[in-house]
Amino acid sequence: MDDGTARLAAIAGGGKAALARALASLETDPDGPVSVALLSAAYAAPRAHVVGITGPPGVGKSTLINGLIGHWRAQGRTVGVIAVDPSSRRSGGALLGDRTRFTVDPEDRGVFVRSMAARDHLGGLAALTVAGMVLMRALFDVVLIETVGVGQSETEVVRVADTVIFCVQPGSGDSLQFMKAGIAEIPHLVVVTKADMEQQARRARSDVEGALSLAECEGDWHPKVLMVSAQARQGVEDLVDAVDGHAAYLKEGRRLVSARQIQADEWLEASLRERFGREGLRKAGPQRLMEGESPFRRLAVLARKLA
Ligand code: GDP
Repeated sequence: MDDGTARLAAIAGGGKAALARALASLETDPDGPVSVALLSAAYAAPRAHVVGITGPPGVGKSTLINGLIGHWRAQGRTVGVIAVDPSSRRSGGALLGDRTRFTVDPEDRGVFVRSMAARDHLGGLAALTVAGMVLMRALFDVVLIETVGVGQSETEVVRVADTVIFCVQPGSGDSLQFMKAGIAEIPHLVVVTKADMEQQARRARSDVEGALSLAECEGDWHPKVLMVSAQARQGVEDLVDAVDGHAAYLKEGRRLVSARQIQADEWLEASLRERFGREGLRKAGPQRLMEGESPFRRLAVLARKLA
């Protein structure tokens, strides 16, 4: 067993405190050999299906996420949540974030919530989100990444998630925005939230369905539109089933493997560009990871060369 695998096993056995410490050490020393070994071990042992959920503030994401966590836990699945907060700032190392938005039982070892500041990487998703996701992907059955749909973050979440859920609020103009922004190509599932606002919810659904019918689909997956009222506990189970349906679709053939491979290549390129600029990217030359190769290890090697 190498050091990274041993450390991963220790974190898996060490509960939430061990995971929180590991995430903190990834933040303080992301390039150190200990972090790279841990991330590479986690990268080689993916377990979770990774779900991205995005939508504007107030659309009902927190309420929906609470509902999803409840359903997954009831099915005996463990859940790791990463909430990427575009507005949060660090204060003495602590994130003035929104972890209190989720009502999770602190005694439940099967659910772990972590807020992360968006900072500037990838236009919305922190570099550390990817590291955190990879670590948590090796530890839980489901990893949920929440981003607030402002600017580019709707499109960024697709680079770290296997299944992307876009939330639209009835009567808010989101569905119009959805069409204008041309993001209709991105989500695998669209949730019209607050479906208890019946007439407006139906209107939002037909707007979204109209937009989707014009959008280009990714492969032969056709995005599904679901009506959910998380508050009234309606439709959450159907959403859980729809996520499982997309996960099953991805597991056919090499879809999941190739999608994750593309994400890793894109992450490597974005990381190089962010740290060494265009010039660094040019010096490094074209990079393609071999199947299963750790992007963290490759980045560390390139960083030493370029520094
Ligand atoms: P977020 O900002 O996207 O995380 O949204 P929240 O989950 O905090 O919800 C924003 C507001 O919408 C809150 O006042 C919720 O009570 C309300 N809300 C959330 N889900 C529902 C729902 O299913 N139906 C209705 N009518 N209101 C909801």
